[in-house]
Amino acid sequence: MSGTAAQGPRLRASLDGIPTYKPGKPAGADSFKLSSNENPYEPLPGVLEAAVAAAGSFNRYPDMAAVELTEELARRFEVPAEHVALGTGSVSVAQSLVLATAGPGDEVIFAWRSFEAYPIITQVAGATPVPVPLTGDEAHDLDAMLAAITPRTRLILVCNPNNPTGVAIRRPELERFLAAVPGDILVVLDEAYREFLRDEQVPDGVELYRSRPNVCVLRTFSKAYGLAGLRVGFAIAHEPVATALRKTAVPFGVSQLAQDAAVASLRAEDALLVRVQALVEERTRVSAALREQGWPLVESQANFVWLRLGERTVDFAAAAGAAGVIVRPFPGEGVRVTIGETAANDLFLSVAEAFRKEV
Ligand code: PMP
Repeated sequence: MSGTAAQGPRLRASLDGIPTYKPGKPAGADSFKLSSNENPYEPLPGVLEAAVAAAGSFNRYPDMAAVELTEELARRFEVPAEHVALGTGSVSVAQSLVLATAGPGDEVIFAWRSFEAYPIITQVAGATPVPVPLTGDEAHDLDAMLAAITPRTRLILVCNPNNPTGVAIRRPELERFLAAVPGDILVVLDEAYREFLRDEQVPDGVELYRSRPNVCVLRTFSKAYGLAGLRVGFAIAHEPVATALRKTAVPFGVSQLAQDAAVASLRAEDALLVRVQALVEERTRVSAALREQGWPLVESQANFVWLRLGERTVDFAAAAGAAGVIVRPFPGEGVRVTIGETAANDLFLSVAEAFRKEV
């Protein structure tokens, strides 16, 4: 056996610098998980029934074209069915978008801090991440993002509202930005938290996409629709982007359970949106209580709040964990805390109050 073979297969050297995606810590039986922006509600009975019915045929491959779900989405958003591209959660659609646009030598711009998968999927494609720091108000610095464009830029990821800060970009700013981006650069509006938005000045990405061939929208069933565990997300994109997505996606990536549950969720949308409204009201309550406690808080339009804690981030996460609430720390920066069930939110608020008094 040669020396090289004994060391095992040779992997791409560039992977060494790429971190693995870190999910929120799982919750123990006696703690609340507020670290992954999940929906705290159990599946609606009708949605569960649809998934259970599909489970009866999981010896078969799913419908790869996902005809029913695609048509349902196309109807709902009033777009051609060919413009809908599904994936194994919107993170995999985001990865397909990177693979479709950028390779070695190409650049992908995104705000930072933002969704932690962006630099990972960029580097997995062999492309170069160009993170652009958020403003002091935790918002996208769109002027700096424009200034970061080079002849090598292929893709710009815009997270609206932003994960983990919750801050959303309003219409005039976003329209000005889109008008200034060269038409050969794809702009992805990642609207994973869209349904939690209540600021009417924030535009709907689907409306922005309609007249702009280089703009596409990313949505997910994981958050407002409560299907995180089933893994289904989608893009709405013009040709040829949508066609490219169908090429770069892993075949059969959306199970029949996921497809059927997603269709049932769209049909049960009214009931699901009542739950979303309850979470938005909890967000308002939690935000007001935090401000009352003296926390400087930016306004979140998503299903989480952001506490900029700097050096005290890890201590806060540990204190929360000890009290039975798992939050998401970004060491040196802050913690993101999902809005969950009332009891979980109350426990988080009591941790925040005690921590605030200590310092
Ligand atoms: N985009 C953003 C901004 C997110 O925060 C997340 C999940 N944390 C995703 C995409 C991916 O979600 P999923 O793959 O579950 O659709």
